[in-house]
Amino acid sequence: MRSLQYDVVIVGGGPAGLAAALKAREKAERVAILERNDELGGILNQCIHNGFGLHVFKEELTGPEYAQRYIDMVAETDIGCYLETMVLDITPNRQIIAMNPEGMLIIEAGAVVLAMGCRERTRSQIRIPGTRPAGVFTAGLAQRYMNMENFRPGNRAVILGSGDIGLIMARRMTLEGIKVLGVYELMPYANGLLRNIKNCLEDFDIPLHLSMAVTRIIGQKRLQAVEVSAVDENLKPIPGTEEVIPCDTLLLSVGLIPENELSRQAGVELSPVTSGPVVDEKLQTSVPGIFACGNVLHVHDLVDQVTLEAEDAGSSAAAYACRTQSEDAQAAVSRQVPETEVRPEGLVRYTVPSRISTAADSATIKFRVARPVDSGRLLITSGSQVLYETKKPKIFIPSIMENIKIRPSSISDPSAAVTVTVVES
Ligand SMILES: Cc1cc2nc3c(=O)[nH]c(=O)nc-3n(C[C@H](O)[C@H](O)[C@H](O)COP(=O)(O)OP(=O)(O)OC[C@H]3O[C@@H](n4cnc5c(N)ncnc54)[C@H](O)[C@@H]3O)c2cc1C
Repeated sequence: MRSLQYDVVIVGGGPAGLAAALKAREKAERVAILERNDELGGILNQCIHNGFGLHVFKEELTGPEYAQRYIDMVAETDIGCYLETMVLDITPNRQIIAMNPEGMLIIEAGAVVLAMGCRERTRSQIRIPGTRPAGVFTAGLAQRYMNMENFRPGNRAVILGSGDIGLIMARRMTLEGIKVLGVYELMPYANGLLRNIKNCLEDFDIPLHLSMAVTRIIGQKRLQAVEVSAVDENLKPIPGTEEVIPCDTLLLSVGLIPENELSRQAGVELSPVTSGPVVDEKLQTSVPGIFACGNVLHVHDLVDQVTLEAEDAGSSAAAYACRTQSEDAQAAVSRQVPETEVRPEGLVRYTVPSRISTAADSATIKFRVARPVDSGRLLITSGSQVLYETKKPKIFIPSIMENIKIRPSSISDPSAAVTVTVVES
């Protein structure tokens, strides 16, 4: 068993972990990344299509290219990279227990950044009735098979869910000669980015069927067909609308869930809406010194946003780990300044952060709407004080995460919650 000490320890070496580590190293001397895989880069390693980095690098990169830029930057530093290192436990006082081929590690950390990413929802989580044949994959698993393992998942595929991974896989499978019969979406609108609907479905004549569900899986050893049905406004299948589609492959692209087991073990409060940690404007969780960023905090659509958020978390973690006695005293004073709840209202599904210190000069509020709004106005208020409002009505869609900066220190009544609302106009 090895005992180690670091100022900042990052759990997860995906794009969030890499960016958080680089930023933390600007202030902290001893920074380490713990990654369970045998390489850094996270899920980007299997995303071989382009479209990454438009905001951060002003270039169109593939996922592995984007990851490699950060891996190279990390390699130029003395950040400790522990690969094949699975973190098993994190205690509330920031002791980390991990395992790698050399044995057990016990690490004392001045601050911890949670960057473990997310995982895909599976068939059992959406309870599709029927038999249990081979040929039913989550979209990300099929992506890994095709792009990293060089396997072909099947010949005739149906995709359930119009999230971005499903759309990207519709195009990828078509390019590899697999017939994609259609994408079926439960909601009356598509869940992925508009550019992916255009580039991955429309350009390849792949039909998108809205308000439809897979209601039965048919086949013994291998999938032989799926039954699809139209759903009503309560998302319940409408009897008599069933259609059986012969196919040997079903891809599920039905949502992502933050990898929250370690967060839970560390005693971090989780949001019932995002399943990720509840954080303040510094991305600090309910446990002092434990920060969170990237998909473990809330699911992002663009990796560029993951990077920017992770830089904030890395910087906050380093500041926490390296605080001097006088900064500590100042922090104790600012802790006496009340925290205000940030509350989603109306069509806003959730916000990150969900609490802010009214001593902060700046806070970025991120949020998503619960359903598409063709023409809406955003209003952020504290009691009767307007902190932000959109000048002109705009479109809000659930697949696009909105980012708005506010100045919490301008709040005149810290006892009033900050509410974030989108009003249809
Ligand atoms: C299947 C899939 C496909 C995607 N495809 C796209 C796409 O095409 N385009 C796009 O813009 N976005 C895509 N995304 C979104 C993408 O996840 C994010 O943009 C970004 O990769 C999230 O970065 P992250 O660092 O938060 O998470 P990840 O990239 O998932 O990295 C998390 C890392 O933490 C490690 N880890 C987890 N638990 C532990 C532990 N206990 N101990 C040690 N290490 C641990 C994991 O091994 C992983 O390397 C996809 C997501 C998924 C799940």
